[in-house]
Amino acid sequence: MGKIGKRFEGKVAIVTASTQGIGFGIAERLGLEGAAVVISSRRQKNVDEAVEKLKAKGIEALGLVCHVSNAQQRKDLIKKTLEKYGKIDVLVCNAAANPTVNGILETKESVLDKLWEINIKTSVLLLQEVAPHLKKGSSVVFVSSIAAYQPSQGLAMYGVTKTALLGLTKALAAEMAPDTRVNCVAPGFVPTHFASFLTKNEGIRKSLEEKSLLNRLGTTQDMAAAAAYLASDDASYVTGETLVVAGGMPSRL
Ligand code: NAP
Repeated sequence: MGKIGKRFEGKVAIVTASTQGIGFGIAERLGLEGAAVVISSRRQKNVDEAVEKLKAKGIEALGLVCHVSNAQQRKDLIKKTLEKYGKIDVLVCNAAANPTVNGILETKESVLDKLWEINIKTSVLLLQEVAPHLKKGSSVVFVSSIAAYQPSQGLAMYGVTKTALLGLTKALAAEMAPDTRVNCVAPGFVPTHFASFLTKNEGIRKSLEEKSLLNRLGTTQDMAAAAAYLASDDASYVTGETLVVAGGMPSRL
């Protein structure tokens, strides 16, 4: 990790799906840079453990249970953030599901619905509620994936939902300008619980490492650094963009 600045002093950041993995890494980074961070996930135990870890690093943190599909929990996430910290400067939409490794033509309707719901729709619904509270200089970051550009076997329909986030980023950047910037991070492969079905397989892991020009998988800190840049004033003239953080894996020109 490079030297950490204090770009988020006095700011309040909500990161969804943030009790482990990339979401936790982003919350930790924003917190270390001075933000008060609101973390959440489906399970109270995970929330409590993550809050403890952040507090142990001197980070101001509030933890809430929020399954992104639960309308009441989404409402409470915003309400309780405002009650405790009085404002919202940064929202990072990080939740996703990849419930199948089937091909698109074999994917059941219920699974298609779930992919749309968790990976896209709930971020839109959360933003509809957060938007009225976002002031000038605020920022939204989506978490897409390298699979948005290369929806490979086993990640095909999931990849397509991540492609949709690239469009959502553009559309909302226009809709929320000029007060709120909207950007996106497209991570390469990071050995988290989510990706363990790939990264714990020695053969697959090696081939993923070889596909990266830097001969390694990504880390949660790599993703956090990119998200923090986009959310910060360092990116004050950047909106509607997706930053690919994949060690040079094939994406777009
Ligand atoms: P992870 O380590 O498995 O962490 C997932 C987090 O999300 C956990 O804190 C989990 O906690 C929470 N969560 C899961 N479902 C949720 C839901 N419905 N509502 C609220 N919270 C939920 O996953 P990750 O790899 O960091 O993935 C995070 C994001 O990065 C996803 O958008 C994923 O698509 C993207 N991504 C990951 C990779 C990779 O290689 N890892 C690559 C590209 C993109 P609970 O179990 O307590 O809910």
